[in-house]
Amino acid sequence: MRIRFWGVRGTIPTPGSETIKYGGNTSCVEITTADKQLIIIDAGSGIRHLGKELVKNSQGRITGSILISHTHWDHIQGFPFFAPVFGRTNRFVVVGKKRVGKQLEETMAGQFIEPYLPFSYNSLPADLIVKEVKDGETLIIGDDTRVTVADLNHPGGCLGFRIESNGVVFVYCSDVSHYDDGFDQSLLQLAQGADLLVHDSHFGSLEERKQFNEYGHSSWIEAVQAAIEAHVGCLALFHYSPDLSDEELDKILVKAREIFPQTILSREGMEIELPLNHHSLPE
Ligand SMILES: [Zn+2]
Ligand SMILES: [Zn+2]
Repeated sequence: MRIRFWGVRGTIPTPGSETIKYGGNTSCVEITTADKQLIIIDAGSGIRHLGKELVKNSQGRITGSILISHTHWDHIQGFPFFAPVFGRTNRFVVVGKKRVGKQLEETMAGQFIEPYLPFSYNSLPADLIVKEVKDGETLIIGDDTRVTVADLNHPGGCLGFRIESNGVVFVYCSDVSHYDDGFDQSLLQLAQGADLLVHDSHFGSLEERKQFNEYGHSSWIEAVQAAIEAHVGCLALFHYSPDLSDEELDKILVKAREIFPQTILSREGMEIELPLNHHSLPE
């Protein structure tokens, strides 16, 4: 299974001189399974570059699944700029959840409308199938890829995804908050024994997380503790606050590795092949 990060930032795209190393685009991760299935998780601003790359390398139609953790803007704002949706022969299954009583398709389509954008969702040439899922559901993609979803603790909810294929396990939990007196048990269960866990690491300190608890995010130290508790092979910190600079992230990595040496910082452009070779962590 190959993982590629296209956007690792939370909340809002954050370009600039302080975010060059890890990147300023919002959430988007590409997964290619052993049987060559394309799975995209989240459609933050990072999906624009991925779309260009897919079009450039395609020999005909592009097909895949797009898993939407939740419809907060930083997870869907890139979708109208995902070039493959403008290709008539392309086909995507968009998977996610209803929110505030609105169907997923209605929320996704709600971005493509005046006064926000000059074209409509219904005018998109690609074949888009929207599938709503429930907590605990498992989908089968391709020959043998199992995608299990779980509701995580985040305002209005956020789906975590456990992707199992060809004996390897990748888990994505982008927006989640633990509790002062314990972990989000759904996350621990979902992440159990994963080869790689991508975990919310929005805040640079636990104090900050407690101060802004209502935002529903984690500090890096909680990500580390959850990774240890869930016995994962490797932890990738993810969904950094727009206020965290490259320099601050470098410092966080040093501190995180003192507690859990198998920690990495997700970074735009980073590629990881699973299963990992534990003698050399991805840089
Ligand atoms: Zn987010
Ligand atoms: Zn969110």
